[in-house]
Amino acid sequence: MVTPENRDSASARAEALRREIEHHAYLYYALDTPELSDAAYDDLLRELQRIESTWPELVTPESPTQRVGAPPSEQFDSVAHSQRMYSLDNAMDLAELDAWLARVREALGERGCGFVCELKIDGSSLSLTYRDGALERAATRGDGRTGENVTVNVRTVKDVPLRLREEVRPSPTAPSAPAAQESLFATTDALEAADDAAAAGSVGWPDVDVRGEVYMPKASFERLNAEQEAAGQNAFANPRNAAAGAVRQKNPAITASRDLATFIYQVVDPRPLGLTRQSDALAWLREAGFHINPDVKLCGTAEEVREFCTGAIEKRDELPYEIDGVVIKVDDFRLQDELGHTSKAPRWAIAFKFPPEEKTTVLREIRVQVGRTGALTPLAEFDPVTVAGSTIARATLHNIDEIRRKDVRIGDTIVVRKAGDVIPEVVGPVLGMRPDDAEPWEMLSDCPECGTTAWRPEGEVVTRCPNVACPAQRLERLLHWASRGAMDIDGMGEQIVKRLVETDLLHDVADFYALTFEQLAVLDLGRVKQDGTPTLLGETMAAKLRAAIDATRDKPLARVLFGLGVRHVGATVAEALADAFGSVDALAEAAATVPLTPGEGVTIAAARESDPIARVEGVGPEIASMVRAFFGDENNVAVIERLRQRGVSLEQERTEPARPQTLAGRTFVLTGALERYTRTEAGEELKALGAKVSGSVSRKTSFVVAGADAGSKYDKAVQLGVPVLDESQLERVIQSGLPPESGSTGA
Ligand code: NAD
Repeated sequence: MVTPENRDSASARAEALRREIEHHAYLYYALDTPELSDAAYDDLLRELQRIESTWPELVTPESPTQRVGAPPSEQFDSVAHSQRMYSLDNAMDLAELDAWLARVREALGERGCGFVCELKIDGSSLSLTYRDGALERAATRGDGRTGENVTVNVRTVKDVPLRLREEVRPSPTAPSAPAAQESLFATTDALEAADDAAAAGSVGWPDVDVRGEVYMPKASFERLNAEQEAAGQNAFANPRNAAAGAVRQKNPAITASRDLATFIYQVVDPRPLGLTRQSDALAWLREAGFHINPDVKLCGTAEEVREFCTGAIEKRDELPYEIDGVVIKVDDFRLQDELGHTSKAPRWAIAFKFPPEEKTTVLREIRVQVGRTGALTPLAEFDPVTVAGSTIARATLHNIDEIRRKDVRIGDTIVVRKAGDVIPEVVGPVLGMRPDDAEPWEMLSDCPECGTTAWRPEGEVVTRCPNVACPAQRLERLLHWASRGAMDIDGMGEQIVKRLVETDLLHDVADFYALTFEQLAVLDLGRVKQDGTPTLLGETMAAKLRAAIDATRDKPLARVLFGLGVRHVGATVAEALADAFGSVDALAEAAATVPLTPGEGVTIAAARESDPIARVEGVGPEIASMVRAFFGDENNVAVIERLRQRGVSLEQERTEPARPQTLAGRTFVLTGALERYTRTEAGEELKALGAKVSGSVSRKTSFVVAGADAGSKYDKAVQLGVPVLDESQLERVIQSGLPPESGSTGA
């Protein structure tokens, strides 16, 4: 996110951010019903921090950057914490973590220190006070100084000990320490004192305050939400809020039914217990009867800390509870004391947060792009942000309906993410930060490229430019023809195609084949050299391009059909059409037939059967109508004629099949991952035996080959009773050339 350039705009932005952050903190902490993801919330908070560090005079005492959590609710008695419950500072990536490690090392100088790495449990903080060894009070964090008394509720959480174990009661002679054998870190001095302590007899208990996290395991959360839904009640946003809500119930019986658990990670005053390190404290806590997270590591080097963090990212999804990072703590309590705290968080600890899947940014513009088929697509352009490791600045908004549904407007602060970690996506606006003058966005009435009035066909969500000669469509069509999946003209990139269009050398795809070496060599690339002369394509590139174009004259028919850019005819459909018709002419002829229309006396199946294109496996009436529309346009027919005249092959090459066509008339569908073949390879082998390979399962499918993780196609095969083959049966078919005897029917 770009930090505002002047103080006035920074002040206004900071004010808007503060209001919005306060609102979301209230929803999250007080009501347990967040509306934003944590990543998006953290991003707003960080933006405010950045503004406040650039203009420190803008910091206010009540700024959310200066505060922990939210004030306790009046519904519970309030509890003053014996020592403040702090939040944690964050490191958003490994570089920030390194910087923190370096800062700590620098502050401690020569002495050096170990770091304890713990998982950051995504629950709700809890403080437990034991008097005379017995649980006296449980409290939430509240605003860090005062929390809520939730003792009756926490008593119902099964892993919270109501008494501390006698084994850890301090002795009169030796400081208490964990009984050594089972310690987490069996290396420290305090551990060795354990046996002595037990032997020396006991004294009264000191007051013991511990802190940790109360959480809801993922499975309990799923169950709870299913129950909520069945009872017609709102689902919880995430396990953290469900846990926080369960702890703050008026009726302890409800808390008891919510299946909560705890991980305890801190002894507030370790001295009376003779503990000198966090690693000792964890071992002591376990001995005392608390539930301690087993995934902890005492690290000596920055490298080890980093390894723990990356390891945690990898195991995150496998854990039965949610974590949102790793907490790294200086091990030695004396060094912790030396480093101290800021107003909000200790300097001796940091939370390494997992890479956020979502970020916030400002939507600057919605630009309309014209696609190859004339579709006008709105594109969001926003301030660049790094999401899941790469910087994004634009994302498609698909169409006007989508924009209305999401209600995004220019000027909005928006949440963006990468869908499936690849494609940038606008999640929606942060409504509270909408500028007063932000208007709903409207689709352009005219094509931005050629000015023709745009239209939205009945029943479609997409607005289109109907002008086939529209330069944008032309450029996109030409690029599509040259693209890798189609004719694959090596070296024919966007810049060159654009210049060829601008210099009037390319109008349609047939023109590629009329380009001469001379025309290409002197093509002005539109850039000026240092000496003021224009940059030309040059003879070497011209020769390469000419050869590359020539090499595409014999491409398979499927690529030609795909390259022509008929709507809805993707690579797979093009292949099915090429296999079924064998030439462009045969397809054009089929397109000229008039199939029956479903209606009185004509069933849908009969109509489809009467249509030679629609009845091709994987095609269907909708695509058939697109193919008809294409061949019905005389411009397209003229382009095909010129392709033919210029030597482009418009026929399937018919060679004698190398193997007997034993699988002729049978249709296979391949799904899931195979071990010995890619799906394409397996498909080629089957086709070599005369089989058809289709992308979708229907009653006409003869066999479905299911590899690992086969999904809906497998289910459909089972549903329709289509025999299913596994990989070894497939291999037998390929090797023997004999049709499969049968497969399982998926049961
Ligand atoms: P935090 O949750 O990021 O970190 C501090 C807390 O981590 C501690 O208080 C402690 O409870 C917990 N923790 C878990 N494991 C720990 C361990 N092993 N050692 C020490 N502490 C451990 O900070 P925060 O101030 O509690 O709250 C901020 C969090 O709440 C952020 O993640 C933020 O995204 C979220 N939040 C979200 C919204 C929203 O609208 N989505 C609103 C407000 C806050």
